Amino acid sequence: MKYISTRGQAPALNFEEVLLAGLASDGGLYVPETYPQFSPEEIASWAGLPYSEVAIKVISPFVDGAIEQATLEAIIRDTYTTFRHPAVTPLVQLDSNEWVLELFHGPTLAFKDVALQLLGRLLDAVLAKRHERVVIMGATSGDTGSAAIEGCRRCENIDIFILHPHQRVSEVQRRQMTTVLAPNIHNIAVQGNFDDCQQMVKDSFADQSFLQGKPLVAVNSINWARIMAQVVYYFYAAVQLGGPHRTMQFSVPTGNFGDIFAGYVAKRMGLPVGQLIIATNRNDILHRFMSGNKLEKTELMHTLSPSMDIMISSNFERMLFELHDRDGAAIAQLMEDFKNGPVSIESARFAKARDLFASLAVDDEQTCQTIAAVLAESEYLLDPHSAIGVEAARRCRKSKDLPVITLATAHPAKFPDAVRKAGYPQDPPLPLHMQDLFQREERCAVLPKDLKAVQQFMAAHIRP
Ligand SMILES: *Cc1c(COP(=O)(O)O)cnc(C)c1O
Repeated sequence: MKYISTRGQAPALNFEEVLLAGLASDGGLYVPETYPQFSPEEIASWAGLPYSEVAIKVISPFVDGAIEQATLEAIIRDTYTTFRHPAVTPLVQLDSNEWVLELFHGPTLAFKDVALQLLGRLLDAVLAKRHERVVIMGATSGDTGSAAIEGCRRCENIDIFILHPHQRVSEVQRRQMTTVLAPNIHNIAVQGNFDDCQQMVKDSFADQSFLQGKPLVAVNSINWARIMAQVVYYFYAAVQLGGPHRTMQFSVPTGNFGDIFAGYVAKRMGLPVGQLIIATNRNDILHRFMSGNKLEKTELMHTLSPSMDIMISSNFERMLFELHDRDGAAIAQLMEDFKNGPVSIESARFAKARDLFASLAVDDEQTCQTIAAVLAESEYLLDPHSAIGVEAARRCRKSKDLPVITLATAHPAKFPDAVRKAGYPQDPPLPLHMQDLFQREERCAVLPKDLKAVQQFMAAHIRP
């Protein structure tokens, strides 16, 4: 399996190279040259399989021998033992033909664990084979940092440095990062804001000389392996509800368009998906595009669903590439134009997008109302991101005779403020295995907002 860039200029890479590459050298994102295909009979035969066995079926053709098959299978089986629910991603029923797929039973209680637990292990295996070591550097405003740290805590060949704005992440979020005490894990609290952290990461990727030859690797959501890992649960959920003989509708709380693009990939691989619903908060670039064929940046807004607070959905470029029949030159031009202002696409291509996706933007007030309504109806407590998904599912679903599955992306205990605003009388309790979080020892370096200071700290702490 080869991977090609959405902008058509960068060389094609194999899986191992794509895993390490992140962004393509022409500024594009990597996608597989073709999508593996599964027949309805084959998909039907997965009914009743455990999560990790479905994952092996779905992931193997993408890896395509870049990691030895027995090793890959062992990695996948080990990965999903870190989830606290035996079904890994269990389905919960809200109403007839209405379901929630709980993706938050991993170590950090959000869906990013599904991909980052696997990514850390895959990277470590590939690096061991190549006798190489890398440094992961990232900035976080909360969720992604802890999922990346948990994904890498046992990696022999990776040192990871996560920057967060000092005293500007919630205590749960900070402790989820700083209580991981493994020798390769480094938390840096920068005396600045999130943008300062992100700028330092960007500057460090641009000039890596401070690391004396160790390459920097990014684990943000443009990494293809993250999308690949997320394709699995679309298949897993569908076969439990009668797929592929029944068509499924999915509603996906969306920020960078990574999770929902995985749903599109599942459809391309043969899963009958009738509708994919894009659910956004007030940061609604995708909903505005779907409503009027105009892709336009606006100001960033802070909402009760902070993990979806984005200005631009970076993975949407992969969808635009598909809508343009994989014309890399057209996408390079479109993204260039987008730097200078709003863009539109040809009406036939836009019609295709409207065929595939529905969309809804949900504000904070409605988010709270949905949390309260679902709690009253079924005593089920949604987190604010998942609530946006459920609201969009209810308003946008085409058919009430077909199942609609909302992806529940975070555990409500991660967002106590939003849940209380919705009228819940207390902070939702953390799961049992995390109830000692506030007693655990923390380790974190507090550094000034100074690139040199951060880089010196990193150079001094990487393992030889
Ligand atoms: C990251 C995140 C999302 C958005 O996922 P994308 O892949 O960026 O669309 C939604 N909910 C939660 C809780 C998240 O952490």
